[in-house]
Amino acid sequence: MTQTRRNFLNSGIALWATSLIPSVSIAAGPPELEESDPIAVALGYKKDANAVDTAKYPKRAGDAGAKQFCSNCALYSAGANGLGGCTAIPGKQVAGAGWCNAWIPAG
Ligand code: SF4
Repeated sequence: MTQTRRNFLNSGIALWATSLIPSVSIAAGPPELEESDPIAVALGYKKDANAVDTAKYPKRAGDAGAKQFCSNCALYSAGANGLGGCTAIPGKQVAGAGWCNAWIPAG
């Protein structure tokens, strides 16, 4: 077999193998939790913890409350793009910069 023919066959195999890869990105993970989702509303979840109404959720008021974020919650596991999993909200990702009233200190 000549080098040219071998290269041609190898490139054909590579193209065939590429066509077997699903077009949907697996790395994207579960969808992001929207603030309008009923569980988010029930927990007072905000994607931006600084947007939390501290009169309604005094747990996040004051100096100690201002340090609470999903990213330092015991129920959070960091993922990609500033999002991560939350064991209280299965099947959705929450923002590391977010917060909800179920916040528990990590560690
Ligand atoms: S339980 Fe923790 S990680 Fe989950 S949404 Fe609330 S603050 Fe964020």
